[in-house]
Amino acid sequence: MAAVDVAGEFETIRRLFAPLAHPEWGRGLKDDVAVVPSKAGYDLVLTKDAIVEGVHFLPSDPLDTVARKLLRVNLSDLAAKGAEPFGYLLACHWSERCGWPERMTFVDGLRADQKTFGVALLGGDTVVTPGPASFSMTLLGWTPKGRTVGRAGARPGDLVFVTGSIGDGWLGLQAAQQKLALDPDRIAALLERYRTPTPRVDFIVPIRDFASASIDVSDGLIADLGHMAETGEVRIEIDLELAPRSAAGQAWYEGRVDEQAALERLATGGDDYEIAFTARPSDEAALRREAERRHLRLTRIGRVVAGQGVVARFAGQPILIDRPGFTHG
Ligand code: ADP
Ligand code: MG
Repeated sequence: MAAVDVAGEFETIRRLFAPLAHPEWGRGLKDDVAVVPSKAGYDLVLTKDAIVEGVHFLPSDPLDTVARKLLRVNLSDLAAKGAEPFGYLLACHWSERCGWPERMTFVDGLRADQKTFGVALLGGDTVVTPGPASFSMTLLGWTPKGRTVGRAGARPGDLVFVTGSIGDGWLGLQAAQQKLALDPDRIAALLERYRTPTPRVDFIVPIRDFASASIDVSDGLIADLGHMAETGEVRIEIDLELAPRSAAGQAWYEGRVDEQAALERLATGGDDYEIAFTARPSDEAALRREAERRHLRLTRIGRVVAGQGVVARFAGQPILIDRPGFTHG
């Protein structure tokens, strides 16, 4: 790209990204690589998520929230594994609408969240695309050797828990598309959850200490529990009524005539970035103490039995859910 182009690749790296780089490992983004010293007694845990304009965010979404959401969805993946994040690689595929001010906005969002979550930029790539903008991040973290919590590991007899509340991501998307009739403060709360979800990094240590299996809820609660059931070769049974709702979610729910359909929407909508996990019944009290200490809501929604698949019940009866969550074709 021409040197005169202020929004060019090298100016973007030097002026916008270099200040976010890890002071040692990022090499000022002046080298071709980052170098991270290995950490004795720890495993390196990596995850990657991409977000695409028109698919994961709306063309009207401000780019600072897009950057923050990208970081947060990655943080959510590591949190569910009990891993402590420390750094990330970032690929920016700017669209033609991403000039210098938009790039600055994007970086403002990253800078704020880097500070909040204690992670630093290690490197990445910067290109321009004629299509919609998209961004991809690889997040790196550590767990003490052998302690990463997997999707597999749930055992019959375990209980199923979820952090926070379920359904606000989907409701927030409906709100962003102006499909919801709710009080303005409810709408604002839902939009905020959709644009900047809260990854449950506060619960990393309890997950590591107590969860037998764990996943972050991104596709939809039912779908993600299905992934845990499949990988762990067990059956997961939940009661839909127990899936926790936020105040805004509750306000929406109370306006519904078909309760079952409403609960299904909330439990299949996705974009929640809560942690769904299983644990032994004997660890429930300790988990509740840990959650309380962190002012984090923790809800028991079901249990693990022998078998396969997910059984969602409504009014005590198993129901058939034909679309358990979001999938890309
Ligand atoms: P290459 O020619 O190999 O693609 P670049 O010029 O893209 O190299 O990268 C130069 C440096 O800038 C590298 O350290 C790279 O990691 C960093 N970098 C490029 N784009 C980004 C980005 N979006 N975020 C962070 N670092 C970046
Ligand atoms: Mg490059």
